[in-house]
Amino acid sequence: MPMDNEPNPEPQPAPPTPPSLSWLTRWNRIPLYTRIVVAMILGIVVGLVLGERAIMFALPSEIILRLLGALAPPLILVAVAHVMITTDIPGRKAARLAWLLVLNTTVAVVIGLTVANVMSPGTWSKLDAPAEENVEEKGEGAGQKTPLEVLVENVPHSIIGPLGDQQNIIGVILIAVAFGIAMRGVKDRPVATVTDLVEIAYQTLLTVLHWIIQLVPIGVFCIVAKVVGTEGFEPFKAMAAFVLAVLVALALQATWYLVRIRLFSWPRPWYVLVGVRDALVMAFSTASSTATMPVTYACLKDNVKLREQSASLGSLVGANFNNDGTALYEAMAALFVAQLLGQDLSFVQQLMVVFTAIIASVGAAGIPEAGLVTMTLVFNAVGLPPQYIILLFTVDWFLDRCRTTINVLGDVNVSCLLDGRTQASAT
Ligand code: ASP
Repeated sequence: MPMDNEPNPEPQPAPPTPPSLSWLTRWNRIPLYTRIVVAMILGIVVGLVLGERAIMFALPSEIILRLLGALAPPLILVAVAHVMITTDIPGRKAARLAWLLVLNTTVAVVIGLTVANVMSPGTWSKLDAPAEENVEEKGEGAGQKTPLEVLVENVPHSIIGPLGDQQNIIGVILIAVAFGIAMRGVKDRPVATVTDLVEIAYQTLLTVLHWIIQLVPIGVFCIVAKVVGTEGFEPFKAMAAFVLAVLVALALQATWYLVRIRLFSWPRPWYVLVGVRDALVMAFSTASSTATMPVTYACLKDNVKLREQSASLGSLVGANFNNDGTALYEAMAALFVAQLLGQDLSFVQQLMVVFTAIIASVGAAGIPEAGLVTMTLVFNAVGLPPQYIILLFTVDWFLDRCRTTINVLGDVNVSCLLDGRTQASAT
């Protein structure tokens, strides 16, 4: 081997040109929100061209929804277990922290439902209740199923379900392949403790979730093509009203946080906002409260000058558990879709929405679009057709950023309140 400092008489072969990237790799390198916007535009064009025939795009979006729904329960299970195992909360603070989390999330859901009831964004346009496109319910007499229909039928509703069903071997294989590939990334990690096990389960689920989220632009394309083709632009009027209503509700939630900071902690709200502005901007630009977590912690400790323990409890536990923006959004989305379909949710059903939205927000991972996964639980709990979650994908790339910013502001709020009314004396 020639040494670096020796002259090299041999002409060196030209370095190999890097293999050109496949179109898929290039596509996946584009930021998700850009892909979603492109998918929307394509969907509009294809919907306009195909008209009623665009109904054929209903099926692919059902596959994506089915996958999201299948992942929701295990994600919630592992996410909550993960927080319980990994966070060390000093006894006296634990009760106060729990109280603040429950209070903030409940207020968020109540604000969301109130704004949705008052503004009624779903009544800005009318949609027919979806015809049951569920291929499983077509029954034997429905004639020959297309291969795509057979595939949809075998996409599992849950991760455990197919294991007890001899008929659904394709579902078992799909799960085995997905998790097998996902676990290749963690196969060399030692499992010495239960924490390691939960950690690995969590990482594996997040990897699979990440793949499913990559399918979201396809889902957006299909639903937009189908809606534009079969119903025109009418439903999008209501979507615009929904975006507005969510923004109003999130602004009210931010006001709640700032008032509480003013009344029950030592730093002044404006000073807090200036101190954590980097975290807020990062939350908006990444749509991930988990990715923002270290910045939130540093801002609270170094800029706002909270005690280390308050900063870490609020930002670290909060980033996992405290997703008020997500809870507010999920509750509003359920009410919005009910309004869109002309269905009234009774008081008891709205209570059910409050309850499931709180649980679902706890289980939502702090990554982009995670709220859409757990939203299937809220919809199922009150019997709303989950197909409409796909419609929300069209605006979610923007609303996700907004609710993530509120999720992070919620963590900031909890930290300030834990820090109390007196500033730590400078050392
Ligand atoms: N993106 C949000 C977060 O990171 C979660 C969600 O989708 O609601 O906090």
